[in-house]
Amino acid sequence: MKKLILLLVAACLFGSFAHSQDPALTEDWTRKPPVINPGCKQAPPSDAIILFGKAKDINNWIGTTGPAKWKTSCRKMTVNGTGDIMTKEKFGDCQLHVEFRTPLKVISEGQGRGNSGVYIQTLYEVQVLDSYENETYYNGQAGSVYKQSPPLVNASRKPGKWQAYNIVFHAPRFSSDGSLTNPASVTVFHNGVLVQDHFELKGGTVYAGYPKYEAHGDMPLLLQDHGNPVKYRNVWIRKL
Ligand code: MG
Repeated sequence: MKKLILLLVAACLFGSFAHSQDPALTEDWTRKPPVINPGCKQAPPSDAIILFGKAKDINNWIGTTGPAKWKTSCRKMTVNGTGDIMTKEKFGDCQLHVEFRTPLKVISEGQGRGNSGVYIQTLYEVQVLDSYENETYYNGQAGSVYKQSPPLVNASRKPGKWQAYNIVFHAPRFSSDGSLTNPASVTVFHNGVLVQDHFELKGGTVYAGYPKYEAHGDMPLLLQDHGNPVKYRNVWIRKL
């Protein structure tokens, strides 16, 4: 009982002390958050860089050996066997929005079904795959960090439906001698559902062998041509 009374007295004293502090001391007025228009229905917010919004935006991209040659129509671009494409602009830490659609007609399985990929900084792949009732190795399905981290859940829609990735990426940091000081991290929402929760990457994506880091600065965003006619639309990025 004595203990309880002491505790109550202590709580009252602490409470009155906290109330005696000037609340303005803990108000932060150092940086006014810029006002932006958030856009509705996944439209880009007003401070985003539009990487692909309409057909002519293919000009923001290049192929690995020349101009980007993916087929465009209206607000979509389609993988067509002409190779990967990447942005002309380079990026570091970023928030990224990508919408993709795997083919309605299912003609293969596993890794051969709607395979493409969002390669952040050309090195770190968030896998694009038709993972609707299509089993493959878990760290290779849609929403995985390819060969590094399976998604927390499979949030895939049916083939032929538009899907979205919202990604927050922090680039790796390297010291002047090229050694890693901070790994890259990625958070991914697939169709609004968290599938990667601040995953720390083990290095660049590799198909065989184990990932490792090599020092680099800002790099382009790359979309993979894996031979399947995956479509993309509404691709935008915000530098962080
Ligand atoms: Mg892929």
